[in-house]
Amino acid sequence: MKGPTPRRLWTYVTRCLGLQSYFRSPGDGRLQPQIPAKALLWSLLIGQVLRASSFLAVERLVRSSARRALAVSTSFSDDALDYFTERLDPTPTRAALARVLHQAKRNKAFETSGGIGLAVDGTTVGRCASCTCLLCRPHRNAEKEIVGYRHHLVLTSVVGTGLSLPFDVEPYGPGDSEYAAGQRLLRRARELLGVRFAAYVVVDGVARVVGRGRETFSFPGSQTHLP
Ligand SMILES: [Zn+2]
Repeated sequence: MKGPTPRRLWTYVTRCLGLQSYFRSPGDGRLQPQIPAKALLWSLLIGQVLRASSFLAVERLVRSSARRALAVSTSFSDDALDYFTERLDPTPTRAALARVLHQAKRNKAFETSGGIGLAVDGTTVGRCASCTCLLCRPHRNAEKEIVGYRHHLVLTSVVGTGLSLPFDVEPYGPGDSEYAAGQRLLRRARELLGVRFAAYVVVDGVARVVGRGRETFSFPGSQTHLP
């Protein structure tokens, strides 16, 4: 049996999952791109697989002698990844992930499980000493003093499939809330995946069965109605 290699993974991603056109046009917002979007996006993905997820770690990979074996066409700096991701429109990525999930469901990849669900959970990323962007939320110590800033996200994953498959995030800055971000996220999941994709939603570890009409399920301390 042949072992997995980055080139075989690329073949799988493009031929079996049909993501070639997504890698060609992933929503690149750079005005005069010098480095192909495909090289940047693929290096981020292969970096995740190899657990080299920081931009600096990816730069080290693509500047090393391993670059050709990783199927990355050109080398670049971590600044190029920063510039690229900051301008990347998330819409094509969301659409591509929804297509893959639909394809997996159609191909009965989730068949052995007890039903597909969506899990929604809050998470925190990044730590800054000062407020540097619109999404920075103050982080306070026990004395309620601001000791830094963090980014807060709500993450949704497809669950009940043997593997938890994260597929979308929604950030919420100061003046916004986890509740509101969770509502936006679930509304979008419903638009992208369709009403009948999932049989239940898990919010903060509590499962709710999803009906066909207007759904109701609880968020911490309140009720959420999806339109
Ligand atoms: Zn920030």
